[in-house]
Amino acid sequence: MGVLSGLEPQAVFGFFESLCAIPRGSHHTGAVSVYLETFARQRGLRCRRDELNNVIVWKDAAPGYEDAPVVMLQGHMDMLIEKERECPRNTDQEGLDIFVEGDEIGAHGTTLGADDGIGVAMMLAVLDDDRVLHGPLECVFTADEEVGMQGVRGLNVSDLKAKFMINLDSLEERVFTVSCAGSTRVVSTLPMGRVPFEGTVCALMVDGFIGGHSGEDIHRGRANANRLMGRALMEIMAKTDLRLLTVSGGAKDNTIPRDAAALIAVKDLDAAKAAAAELAEALENEYRATEKKIRVRLFPTRSSFTPMDEDSTRRAATFLFCAPNGVQMMSAEVPGLVQTSLNFAQVYTEDDKMVCRFMVRSSVNSQAAEIAHRVMALTRAMGGEAHIPSAYSAWQYRPDSRLREVMTDAFRTVYGAEPRIAALHASLECGILSGKMPDLDCISFGPDVVNVHTPRERLKIASTWRTWALLRETLRRLK
Ligand SMILES: [Zn+2]
Repeated sequence: MGVLSGLEPQAVFGFFESLCAIPRGSHHTGAVSVYLETFARQRGLRCRRDELNNVIVWKDAAPGYEDAPVVMLQGHMDMLIEKERECPRNTDQEGLDIFVEGDEIGAHGTTLGADDGIGVAMMLAVLDDDRVLHGPLECVFTADEEVGMQGVRGLNVSDLKAKFMINLDSLEERVFTVSCAGSTRVVSTLPMGRVPFEGTVCALMVDGFIGGHSGEDIHRGRANANRLMGRALMEIMAKTDLRLLTVSGGAKDNTIPRDAAALIAVKDLDAAKAAAAELAEALENEYRATEKKIRVRLFPTRSSFTPMDEDSTRRAATFLFCAPNGVQMMSAEVPGLVQTSLNFAQVYTEDDKMVCRFMVRSSVNSQAAEIAHRVMALTRAMGGEAHIPSAYSAWQYRPDSRLREVMTDAFRTVYGAEPRIAALHASLECGILSGKMPDLDCISFGPDVVNVHTPRERLKIASTWRTWALLRETLRRLK
């Protein structure tokens, strides 16, 4: 007897429990992809597994649905593994220790991987049950979503024909996600020269910021440490002669930087201290609603670095001060949605250069390109060079969507209510796929999963039941 046997819908929870028994952390998807391939072969279903471990399974239409449009169901097989510190489980080799408590399913000591195991389980339940009514199906199980969507990025779509795509990787019931942002990274490099300078060497630190996700939190009015480092340098330069020795801030492209630190040399220490104190006071007032502990600190220290020359210092400080950052435009179609933003994610110096990294997000591709070009133009004006190491297209909102109409009707039947239509200012696999298949009409939905990416992740049982009913009703109506 399985832990989940007896729960409805039985087929969905049965497959979910099987998936939980297979180790399937990102970069370890060999076993689960073989499981999916075997599942298909045992049922005589056409199947393709690629070198990235993506698996595609095709199923013919149910009787009476032969002329219905091709529908893609899509979810990711890998899960993000987070463990409690004392958890002894070897998640590379062992499955999860799942349990049921009230209306919730969890795993002892680890993430549950309902993100996106429950989506995969629903797809298997559809493929397994000949009583479910549907048109021709293409089920796309992607690998390594949690590590930069590597599976879907490398997926060959030349044998896919779907007109509609249902992504089952959303974590909030009653919500249809209909758009997501693309992402463009920009890296700017400014050459720096160095000459000796007579002055007091100081550490300048701006820290104590909240930070957050560079997409989902970008509109919350939080401070960016790299930008405020630029401001601190400019304020001090206005009061006394200053040379930059080093500067660094931010850790990752997808987080808002929480701290930045510089080594500087100043002619007049008291004037520099006064400027820093004045800025600290101004920031406390400006960010009093969003930040609690911003600090600007300046204190003498020692360093063996040779300072940057006057021109290099001026260019570096100006760049940090003027670089665009934050929300660039709100959507006029989807209330509350950030259409375009960028995060000034990282800055660091080496001997002869300063390097800055930006992450631009937009649900409109041409606007992402505009913002990337703005950063590049500023870089060139400051004597540097910029390049774009990666750019992924957005999933733009479709004013006309047959899938949205059909699913909304299905939702009314199942729930007796209206769904919430939402757009994300972050990335989903739908963005990559709709970039590769431009005519694809997509929606993403799923049951309630809470505390995702933590060992407290829980899947809601009744919510799963309703989501499954909605999926079947939608497939029945896509004729
Ligand atoms: Zn996911």
